[in-house]
Amino acid sequence: METDMAVIGAGALGLSTALHCALRGRSVVVVDRAAAGSQASGRAAGLFKSVQADQARTLLARRSIERAARFEEWAGVPLAVRRTGSFLVARSAKHKAFLRAELAQSRQWGVDVREAGTAELAERASYYQPSGSELAIWCPEDMYIEEPGSLIQAYRSACRLHGVEILESEPATAVLTSRRRVTGLETASRRIAAGIVVDAAGAWARQVGELAQARIAVAPVRHQLFITEPSGSIKAADPIIRVIDAATYLRPARGGLMFGVFEADPMALDPRHQPASFTTDDVPLDLGQLQKLAGQVTAEVPLVDGAQVAEHRGGLFTMSPDGRFLAGPVSDVPGLWVASGCNGSGFSSSLAIGELLAAGITGDAAPPSLAGFSPDRFGPLTEEALVESGTWQYAHYYDPAD
Ligand SMILES: Cc1cc2nc3c(=O)[nH]c(=O)nc-3n(C[C@H](O)[C@H](O)[C@H](O)COP(=O)(O)OP(=O)(O)OC[C@H]3O[C@@H](n4cnc5c(N)ncnc54)[C@H](O)[C@@H]3O)c2cc1C
Repeated sequence: METDMAVIGAGALGLSTALHCALRGRSVVVVDRAAAGSQASGRAAGLFKSVQADQARTLLARRSIERAARFEEWAGVPLAVRRTGSFLVARSAKHKAFLRAELAQSRQWGVDVREAGTAELAERASYYQPSGSELAIWCPEDMYIEEPGSLIQAYRSACRLHGVEILESEPATAVLTSRRRVTGLETASRRIAAGIVVDAAGAWARQVGELAQARIAVAPVRHQLFITEPSGSIKAADPIIRVIDAATYLRPARGGLMFGVFEADPMALDPRHQPASFTTDDVPLDLGQLQKLAGQVTAEVPLVDGAQVAEHRGGLFTMSPDGRFLAGPVSDVPGLWVASGCNGSGFSSSLAIGELLAAGITGDAAPPSLAGFSPDRFGPLTEEALVESGTWQYAHYYDPAD
């Protein structure tokens, strides 16, 4: 089999990269060891967040919001999004100061954000009972996708429409090279000749990189959320709320509330040290820990206090040492590209990351800068340093300047 490029991994990042390259006229084959979207991407909360820690990520996040909202126009298939806006809430003096700084810098970068009063917070978010002493920032651009599978389905349909071939239950077992240059890949059942191979293997990105002797600096870290049983009191139009001092997010979901939290001492889990059959289903989950951490917001969100849980799910983020994506070419393995280092926002940012990578890979558009996301930027790192910095980035997801 021969193609212009092969993508390893049919999660949000792999499918988006494949789709954008196909839109630029390239022939693309995607292989996945499991079903498309069945790993991290299928577990996502579906949140899009316009306020980011730096200008580059802000541009990507806002571009992704725009591309998701207008998916049908450029991809040719529909995608439903919920444009509810969001509140960022801080209750401690330290986190209020942090949010004020984020507000100022985000406005400079063009994000539509402003401080909101208690009455507005109470009025817009029926499930949140403000104490009156919190700082709330209104972010009207923010949105979510109700079920993560609908973005995957939209990517799949658009890929099909534009000629991308997706091969499922077909793990890549080798990346082929000739004098270090990529020439294709191998699965158990075939050889695929391709001058470009993209490593978009999520929590397995390091493992796949090693097939080409490349070191990909990502540390997989567990993340979990729950959705409560439906409650008549939650309005579907209610916004997302992120309480940053509690490192939690909430949004309406299936008539109930979704609650997710970034644990201060998260579990790092590398599939390279697991049996070969390991999948996201094998990530050990801990509902008790999640419920305990929900206690931080029960004064304002009484609904999560001892709520009946309809769904509890989790998976692995791929954290990088500086909290930024790994998106670009690997310089010492020509032809190998990486789409990883999602740092907990790979589902939403996949729209812009795929577009950015496609511009770089095809080289036929003035490429926006990939430099800040180069997979080469870390140099040699010990395993311990990688896990330590990755877990720090995870724990400081909402306050990375801390
Ligand atoms: C509970 C949870 C909530 C989240 N919420 C959000 C959110 O609200 N917003 C947001 O933006 N992000 C969120 N994320 C993060 C987001 O899900 C990830 O950033 C994103 O899905 C990463 O996409 P990916 O394509 O890199 O990985 P994946 O979806 O894991 O895809 C990688 C694929 O590679 C395949 N693969 C691995 N090895 C091989 C091989 N050798 N050969 C072939 N295929 C291989 C895997 O089977 C897999 O399908 C959340 C994550 C979790 C776990």
